[in-house]
Amino acid sequence: MYKKIAAFIFLGLFVYSCATVPLSGRRQLSIVSNAEVLPLSYDQYGQVLEESKVLTNTTKGKQVVNVGRRIAEAVEKYLDENGHPEITEGFAWEFNLLESEQVNAWCMPGGKVAFYTGILPICQDETGIAVVMGHEVAHAIANHARERMSQGMVANGLMGGLQAAMGENPSLTQTIFLQAVGVGGQVGMLKFSRDQELEADQLGLIFMAMAGYDPREAPGFWQRMNAQSGGERPPEFLSTHPGPERRIDKLNEQMDDALKYYKSN
Ligand SMILES: [Zn+2]
Repeated sequence: MYKKIAAFIFLGLFVYSCATVPLSGRRQLSIVSNAEVLPLSYDQYGQVLEESKVLTNTTKGKQVVNVGRRIAEAVEKYLDENGHPEITEGFAWEFNLLESEQVNAWCMPGGKVAFYTGILPICQDETGIAVVMGHEVAHAIANHARERMSQGMVANGLMGGLQAAMGENPSLTQTIFLQAVGVGGQVGMLKFSRDQELEADQLGLIFMAMAGYDPREAPGFWQRMNAQSGGERPPEFLSTHPGPERRIDKLNEQMDDALKYYKSN
């Protein structure tokens, strides 16, 4: 009897705690809400900025902000027009360029983006920045960190939502959050799954196109990324990332779809 009840509760959890990723349509586990996660995220982002050399007021920094705003605006417009304004509810977009040799960029939940100066030579120009920006914005729109956090909580038996988890085991909950947003250990070492990465590529390609950037530039960016890393993958693109060839093949497969958004601009 107890087993049955437990199975019922467990099933119920999955039935009622799923979200759907826009555009890809994938169902994902979601046992915490953005209302719960975003304040934690904004707090973490603020801490990273405090500990970093922020170059957002430089010419390059302004370019990053400009690309970020264009993409965020285009995505929000699309979501509004398609009846999903709730996806970015509570978001507080912010784009910053930070000084670091790391070839990296990341986005915390709620649209808090950081670009490292180390990735700019590979971006080369505004469209290259848009490739990375589209990918990072896609992680936020698809709520990948929240999904990772939900998975981490379930894996650790914390099934009752964030409030309950905080009460039950605050330090474990905090660790799961930090791992999910990628600030445990080294900042920006996001550990998204291979599927999440491919999904961010797919959505990112569409997002850059929506904002008026030519998506056909994306495969070239990934080729440059691959060439500069000499086969070794840079931080955000570590082991869980799909291999560069597979990633470029996938982008080319999705190009026709992305071009529809580009041409409708
Ligand atoms: Zn990524």
